[in-house]
Amino acid sequence: LTDLNALADEFVRLSYHGLRAKDKSFNADFKLELDPDLPKVNMVAPDIGRVILNLVNNAFYAVNEKAKSGSDNQIDEGYQPEVTVKTTVIKSPSGDLGVELSVKDNGNGIPDSVKKKIFQPFFTTKPTGSGTGLGLSLSYDIVKAHGGELKVESMEGLGCKFIVQFLLIA
Ligand code: ADP
Ligand code: MG
Repeated sequence: LTDLNALADEFVRLSYHGLRAKDKSFNADFKLELDPDLPKVNMVAPDIGRVILNLVNNAFYAVNEKAKSGSDNQIDEGYQPEVTVKTTVIKSPSGDLGVELSVKDNGNGIPDSVKKKIFQPFFTTKPTGSGTGLGLSLSYDIVKAHGGELKVESMEGLGCKFIVQFLLIA
């Protein structure tokens, strides 16, 4: 059984420190809101770890881009780049227990025209060399293979939230 809280904690730090080591101008805060009563899940740890890493890497990238573009823009002065990873127990409409892990950022969000394509393999809006466009399509496949759901909520200009949900099979 896999402890999602431990994985979330490990991979957000890995991503954060990795990005800082590569790019000295990288600047973002992260918050962990981990439910201490989260049940362990029956999943392959390296697989779900990869999903978390992909989501967190994307979120840090998004806030970092916004921070950089805002440096010559008065409106964004005082912008605090922030990524929040949260876990919580959920209940399906039929009363089944599940777990949810979300990665929220206050970057620029995803325009509707782009949102349709983000789970397609090789789709990326990043410059050549910065993104393979495989992170989300792989993550989607991994989550589906474990019987879960991967969803996104986006507020254009304000950020987005990626949500992973699994029901616990008794
Ligand atoms: P890559 O990161 O290599 O571009 P992904 O599959 O991880 O590939 O993501 C595909 C695209 O989805 C990104 O290029 C970006 O346009 C969009 N995207 C993903 N996560 C975010 C995010 N947190 N904020 C804004 N856009 C995002
Ligand atoms: Mg990515």
